Amino acid sequence: MPVTASSVQQEHPVLGAGFEALSRQDPEIADVILGEMGREATGLQLIAAENFCSPAVLAALGSPLANKYAEGYPGARHHGGCELVDVAERIAIDRAATLFGAEHANVQPHSGSAAVLAAYAALLRPGDTVLAMGLPYGGHLTHGSPANFSGRWFNFIGYGVDHESGLIDYEQVRLLARTHRPRAIVVGSIAYPRHPDYAYFREIADEVGAYLIADAAHPIGLVAGGAAPTPVPYADVVCATTHKVLRGPRGGMLLCGAELAERIDRAVFPFTQGGAQMHSVAAKAVAFGEAAAPAFSTYTHQVVANARALADALAAEDFAVTTGGTDTHLITADPAPLGAEGRTARGLLAAAGMVVDCCALPYGDERGIRLGTAAVTTQGMREPEMARIAELFALALRGEGRKVAAEVRDLAGNFPPYPA
Ligand SMILES: *Cc1c(COP(=O)(O)O)cnc(C)c1O
Repeated sequence: MPVTASSVQQEHPVLGAGFEALSRQDPEIADVILGEMGREATGLQLIAAENFCSPAVLAALGSPLANKYAEGYPGARHHGGCELVDVAERIAIDRAATLFGAEHANVQPHSGSAAVLAAYAALLRPGDTVLAMGLPYGGHLTHGSPANFSGRWFNFIGYGVDHESGLIDYEQVRLLARTHRPRAIVVGSIAYPRHPDYAYFREIADEVGAYLIADAAHPIGLVAGGAAPTPVPYADVVCATTHKVLRGPRGGMLLCGAELAERIDRAVFPFTQGGAQMHSVAAKAVAFGEAAAPAFSTYTHQVVANARALADALAAEDFAVTTGGTDTHLITADPAPLGAEGRTARGLLAAAGMVVDCCALPYGDERGIRLGTAAVTTQGMREPEMARIAELFALALRGEGRKVAAEVRDLAGNFPPYPA
């Protein structure tokens, strides 16, 4: 039976009425969207940075607010006709500030990287020294990669983790800070499964007269739900994404105190960006509204409980879980005891429908795997499913991929991300 647009819409009401027009006008792209929805719904999405945003967030993203040019800030725009999008941005700012207990929020950064760029632009000058987690330990591209603006324009010094424990080497952070007297210290990572000690970082920053920038792109969603400690009282500026555990649209955000508000705003627009994406700003407002509800707190605590259960079960299957577990949604592990390195493991798992990243583990290149529980928890999975996923991981790496793939499809099928 041919798949018609209206039958698709009955099955996937999240696509909205516009999808029928899209599929008539541009079937090639409509097929990509349907195919991707199928891929997302029939496999296990375990990439630590991914999630499923709500139908309400998707509706705001797909709205005609995408048409509006809005350079500047509410009440001070360079374009006319911004009265209504101003309302959306004010709501987004107020909700973000309230949700995170910050004096000021900027909701315009187009991405997490754009938020970090703006934070540096507000506080640093080219050539300044910055102390951040080294890339082999989980530093982000924007923390000094030579392939990124950060590594080209600033002098980055990298701190690492303790060989044995996998935990941040706080004594090394203090020694490097005293030696290099950085202008800013960055706390935050793409792969650290534990809570950083924000108070300790603040103390070191104060000791050497540095700004403290928290790049909380990963944990900010947990912070919103009360499932992780907040960097807001400690950091001069908090950079974040809105699309990871926070479950909003793809984008960035900045939080700071009143005294830096104007510098941060000017660093976003006009320094690093032009017009704000008002469909995305509105979708961020929707996501902040969702994150303020009690159900989101329950969700974030389940995300962590699931990650702990999955880490324990992976360890029981002989994966070498970094730091021996997790405090967050994120797990990194070395699959070497099962006879695979990161890239091979990622391929074998993907072939069975389980999507993870490979990642650098301390002192090894792309040797590990990185995964997270935000998306599968949004789907409603709990501890028993985590235990089964770990078993499926081990089976897939031991060459049982075909059998595993069928079970993955069944498991995912029982937890649709967008129930009809
Ligand atoms: C995800 C992430 C970013 C960047 O986010 P993009 O939206 O991909 O630019 C920056 N810093 C950290 C620590 C991250 O985890």
